[in-house]
Amino acid sequence: MLTIPTLRSTPALASLNQIIGPQRATRLREAANEIHHRLDGGTLWHVNSTPAGGGVAEMLRTLLPLYAELGVEARWAVVGGDETFFAITKRLGVALYGSDGDGGPLGPNERAAYLAALSPSAESLVQLVDRRDVVILHDHQTAGLVATLADQVASVHWRCHIGVDEPTPASDRGWDFLAPMLNAAETLIFSVEAHVPARLRDRDIQVLPPFISPFDAKNCDLTVEAIDACLAHCGLSPESAGGRAPAVLDTGAGPVRLRSAPSVLSDGPRRLGDPLITQVSRWDRLKDMAGVLTAVTAHVPRGHLALVGPDPAAIADDVEQEFWYADCVERWRGLPAAQRRRVSLISLSMTDPTENALLVNAIQRASDVVVQKSLAEGFGLTVAEAMWKSRLVIGSAVGGIRAQITDGVDGFLLPDPSDLRWLGQIITAALAGEVDRQEIGRRAHQRVRSDFLPDREVTTTASILAPERM
Ligand code: UDP
Repeated sequence: MLTIPTLRSTPALASLNQIIGPQRATRLREAANEIHHRLDGGTLWHVNSTPAGGGVAEMLRTLLPLYAELGVEARWAVVGGDETFFAITKRLGVALYGSDGDGGPLGPNERAAYLAALSPSAESLVQLVDRRDVVILHDHQTAGLVATLADQVASVHWRCHIGVDEPTPASDRGWDFLAPMLNAAETLIFSVEAHVPARLRDRDIQVLPPFISPFDAKNCDLTVEAIDACLAHCGLSPESAGGRAPAVLDTGAGPVRLRSAPSVLSDGPRRLGDPLITQVSRWDRLKDMAGVLTAVTAHVPRGHLALVGPDPAAIADDVEQEFWYADCVERWRGLPAAQRRRVSLISLSMTDPTENALLVNAIQRASDVVVQKSLAEGFGLTVAEAMWKSRLVIGSAVGGIRAQITDGVDGFLLPDPSDLRWLGQIITAALAGEVDRQEIGRRAHQRVRSDFLPDREVTTTASILAPERM
């Protein structure tokens, strides 16, 4: 079943223009006009498979209201599916990341089940679209819609946010499943050039990294009081700070009342003076939360580790989160008491996306070091978010992260994501003041400001849809 997410639209264009300056603001306005003319009264559709949680939903939540302010008619639709559908798409996603996952098949039966599960969404979309419309389908969960929609609209574009730097037999299997469904797509849009598989190189390929929204609850500036209140809400205040969250927090993105009860697993509050080391991610094998837990507890002598993720039962299109969360819990329970005391496992409620974003924002801002120890990554939104907040980020040298961080300049790259000792050493050095965290953080913020803000999404979309290209 297809759903149309409800969006809270807080005006954002003026703030964005202020951040990007007059030249980029003019280009943004021109690009929006170009898209508007190109649509000729039609609609720009974005279609994905979850209304909340994960990078694509994050982006669309910002982008759709921004298009509205820019006078571009844009809509967002979310495809539904049953458990079998999401089990297949999970397997497919893991394969595209180069791993075997559950080792299950991706053959004709799975393709038939995948397409059958998508068909109610396809039918609903066909009712909604118009000949003048342009449709952007996100990731493998929606690829099965290309053929149906291509006959109904002006053009269909498929956007891929995931991939693997070097092909593996598993990723080939994933592309065997996916590539035939993409034939009717006008362009194929990848976050990172290296993720384009050889068999698709002769297609019209575009590269467009995602962006972060600097003015919403996830990334807006926060007062010290708001940060403290959020830390207290998640059990991360240093032990003597205590304190209760004020009823309503004043944020740059509007007032927020903290209502949720995050599930926090810890053996007590963070010790006073303990620096905060954080990874924010879905509970997913490829995010390797467990690896961060081991690296910090075994190789970093001081500091408190917060592993922060969504409520593992809350992400509609990801059926494995509960398993990987449980895996972290088991490892946490198995730690010696002194180490267990240094780790908090925090699952945030996804019921209120603004509150969730605010808590992530505050935790990232309060962190002395932010880690993203992914084993594979399309483009790490969490990396860009923490860089925007001028944090020292240590990310695995995989996928898009390699393009996001310039090693030693605006962050650090972990050359071998399985090297726990190296990760431990660099965190230890950073906490000991052996690197200039402030200067690296300043450069990190600059990098995001110049390359990963929403205007780039709009200007690149305008050039992809330019009439001379179609
Ligand atoms: N995120 C969140 N709440 C959580 C965990 C993650 O809002 O509890 C957000 C995170 O801030 C980021 C997105 O989910 O914006 C994850 O995007 P990323 O590209 O890092 O990874 P993906 O989940 O898309 O693989």
